[in-house]
Amino acid sequence: MKMIDVVNSCSSVTRREFFNLCGKSVCLLSAVNFLGFPDISHAQTATKGLIKTKLSPYFTSLDGGEIQCELCPHQCRVAKGKRGICRVRENRDGKYFSLVYGNPCALHPDPIEKKPFFHVLPGTTSYSLATAGCNFQCKFCQNWEISQASPEDIYSYEVSPEMIVKKAKEIRSRSVAYTYVEPTVFYEFMLDIGHLVKKEGLLNVTHSNGFINPGPLRNLCKVLDAANIDLKGFSEKFYRELCSGELSPVLETLKTLKQEKVHLEITTLIIPTKNDDLSLLEQMCLWIKKELGADTPIHFSRFYPLYKLRTLPPTPVSTLEKVRAVALSSGLEYVYIGNIPGHEAEHTFCPKCRKRIIQRTGYMVGEINVKAGKCRFCGKPIPGIWS
Ligand code: SF4
Repeated sequence: MKMIDVVNSCSSVTRREFFNLCGKSVCLLSAVNFLGFPDISHAQTATKGLIKTKLSPYFTSLDGGEIQCELCPHQCRVAKGKRGICRVRENRDGKYFSLVYGNPCALHPDPIEKKPFFHVLPGTTSYSLATAGCNFQCKFCQNWEISQASPEDIYSYEVSPEMIVKKAKEIRSRSVAYTYVEPTVFYEFMLDIGHLVKKEGLLNVTHSNGFINPGPLRNLCKVLDAANIDLKGFSEKFYRELCSGELSPVLETLKTLKQEKVHLEITTLIIPTKNDDLSLLEQMCLWIKKELGADTPIHFSRFYPLYKLRTLPPTPVSTLEKVRAVALSSGLEYVYIGNIPGHEAEHTFCPKCRKRIIQRTGYMVGEINVKAGKCRFCGKPIPGIWS
């Protein structure tokens, strides 16, 4: 049976690439995080095929048995017996069903830095899950084997929300992460887990493309503690041509998360020739500063050639450093470079006293000088969830 190795989003390197990139000591310690905890896969047999369905609360009935899905801005109109763009929702006799409820294909205890969250409980484990399906078709997706799959085509587990939370506690995860693909497509499962997670005093965190309608998003915010949203580019053209999506709903999601006081971080994968225009990136940073605040952490990640963009080179380190300089000069205070383990821009620096307040190498966290949410050296409040 082939199990699929997932990375955390469209913007991370694969585990194999990560190990190749890191020094030996980093690899060994990271391997503890990846492999050292009991995984639910040891106790469960993954099977192929549809396992469980759940009626979606987010659809409108139309004439002739058609439905319109209201979960994401695609607003798919779906005829009887057919599925929406994400492949994991089906019209059965005029009612719309999730086909992936309780049916994750990926379950991993990950370092929370892998999500990436740099301002949420650093150094802790986040029990991370995904099902098949996605509402985008990014040409640079690093998890395309599951994001672009139908649920019956890959191996998945049968796991209840209660089992997820039990396992998260057993392995001492401080959070449960909805990630790897776009979590909106397994919304009902995520929400049911999320309510149990809150009861147990853990955090709910998500890495998302932000392509969700405002109603379900606001409902999700009732249990959501932190979100890392991919801002994949800053033009409709980029979203249309490379992701089969739209930019404007993603910007609305970012504003809503800010209003709802969900801790927010942003990730942008910098792809050579596709979204590395510095003037457009400057506009993006100025938009973030104005609409979300200068203290919104942003991760600029290195692209590696794969899936449908195999002919492009990896992002030069110098490009990422230029992008970071633009973001800092635009006024953003926490600007990180991702997928280059050992780079200085993995650390957190206090924007006031400039001292290093969190030390990182890859997914490993060293010294932390944030005390009660403030810089230990000068007392400046640092945004995030620290305890
Ligand atoms: S969640 Fe899926 S079915 Fe619903 S509108 Fe989005 S892509 Fe279409």
